[in-house]
Amino acid sequence: MTIVAENIKVILAQISHLEQQYGRTAGSVKLLAVSKKQPMEKIVSANLAGLNDFGENYLQEAAVKIEELKQLALCWHFIGPIQSNKTKAIAEHFQWVHSVDRVKVAQRLNQHRESSSLPLNVCVQVNLSGEASKSGTALDQTDALCREIAELPNLKLRGLMAIPAALNNLEAQRASFRQLRDAFVRLQSTYSSMDTLSMGMSGDFEAAIAEGSTLLRIGTGIFGRRD
Ligand SMILES: *Cc1c(COP(=O)(O)O)cnc(C)c1O
Repeated sequence: MTIVAENIKVILAQISHLEQQYGRTAGSVKLLAVSKKQPMEKIVSANLAGLNDFGENYLQEAAVKIEELKQLALCWHFIGPIQSNKTKAIAEHFQWVHSVDRVKVAQRLNQHRESSSLPLNVCVQVNLSGEASKSGTALDQTDALCREIAELPNLKLRGLMAIPAALNNLEAQRASFRQLRDAFVRLQSTYSSMDTLSMGMSGDFEAAIAEGSTLLRIGTGIFGRRD
């Protein structure tokens, strides 16, 4: 077994244990493998170990991998900051975008997504208070952005995403994920297409599962350190 396959086995067992511990439905938390700055062979290993969803942050790097690996029919998620001049390529190459944080980017993704393709699945990235990263819309702007996205025919509004500040205590991690979960639950009553709460990385996925995450984005825990 490759190290990647072993890591995946361990993480899937942890996820299943945590689903039980926190009263989550078995199988309700999906694993997205974050493959940025990782070589092609490791993506193939992860796919052989059963993973089909991969997350990338850098368009140029991702485009090469997507082209090289196209026979594997993987599902690709763009999770990095979006410059508006990259929206065309993102709309063409990816099935999901987790980092939509402004109307202009949403409009451009919509404009560049072929209406003959399936709609592009999008999550709104929210900048929770105290968050180190500058990306994401403010929590109180989230409703307005969702309203705009819901009107765009080539986008499908799937959920919310956040990268909270790195904290090393479970309760503090849970408190920030809870803010995102509350916004998500409230929005779900308006937008029936919302089914994805994209939160939790290698260092905080227990807290994310406890607070209702449906999609963990894990990089180093699966692939090891990035160079
Ligand atoms: C890199 C990255 C991850 C994965 O982080 P790890 O700590 O390596 O698990 C998850 N989400 C986003 C948006 C990232 O940029």
